[in-house]
Amino acid sequence: MFSYRHGFHAGNHADVLKHLCLIATVRYLMRKDAPLLMVDTHAGAGVYRLDGDYAQTSGEADAGVQRLAHAFSQAFDPAAQAAPAPAAIKDIAEGLRDYLALVASFNQRLPWRTYPGSPFVLQHLMDEPARAAVHDRLKLFELHPSDAQALVGNIEQLGAGRRVAVAPEDGFAGLRALLPPPPAPGGSRRALVLIDPSYEIKTDYGKVAAAIQDALKRFPTGVYLVWYPIIARPEAHDLPRRLRTLAQQAGRSWLNATLHVGAAADESGGLTASGMFVVNPPHTLKATLDEALPQVLAALGEGRGRGAAWSVDAGAA
Ligand code: SAM
Repeated sequence: MFSYRHGFHAGNHADVLKHLCLIATVRYLMRKDAPLLMVDTHAGAGVYRLDGDYAQTSGEADAGVQRLAHAFSQAFDPAAQAAPAPAAIKDIAEGLRDYLALVASFNQRLPWRTYPGSPFVLQHLMDEPARAAVHDRLKLFELHPSDAQALVGNIEQLGAGRRVAVAPEDGFAGLRALLPPPPAPGGSRRALVLIDPSYEIKTDYGKVAAAIQDALKRFPTGVYLVWYPIIARPEAHDLPRRLRTLAQQAGRSWLNATLHVGAAADESGGLTASGMFVVNPPHTLKATLDEALPQVLAALGEGRGRGAAWSVDAGAA
């Protein structure tokens, strides 16, 4: 069984990139009143303590979302208005503000104690008053027995009802059974899929590419988001290229966003860069990330070693 537990990493720079992209994408899809099926193939526990042992041991959230929140606190936290304003806050990017405001809604004040993982982010968006009348559905897969059990309990506490379902199963296999989505009342079929493995097993890289290839055959118009680590491993290096080729072969548009925060000041190691590859991205996503990622990097790359950079590449269908 796997040893990866997302609780050590929740709210780190990789989660910031992932959830910023996810929220901006879902928001765009939710502009339309037609129901959306959302699938999270690797869901984790759903929500995390930032003041608990895991987060405190790793310190990753402190160098990630907590640092970002402090840098931009005035933009979304009225209680912080008394503090002097860093210049950048006046012009906080809309996508970054939206991400921070969503995390803030799970917390009372800074420093934050709670971090919503992707299941809570998605559930929160489908539950907003403007969306509540539309019958979106959320399907969550989590294979680790402890995290799956925690996820079931955490989702139950939200009182989300039957629109949210948790399966303690393999997300790659589960996804195949869900595509294409059944037509919603009104006839439309819409789906957004987040594929976010830990890549603890190196076969995950091949499984992700195979899942995207299969998904594009079953449901070419779905929106697919894949998170991947940027590390010195051939499979990791190849994955975004493979995904781009698959999107191009299927005649679909794509976007690839990366965030490199630079080496830790104490050179303690750990992940310093990751990417999000999106097939069929909203046409607004590139502009949203072009505006937000420099601000994210200004906060998270400060005081770290060389290599801090961001990029957003995109290709049309
Ligand atoms: N998506 C989550 C978020 O953004 O909050 C984080 C997910 S974490 C990076 C990856 C999770 O996938 C781990 O909790 C791990 O136990 C789980 N996992 C690993 N292999 C899996 C598989 N084949 N199917 C479903 N879950 C799996």
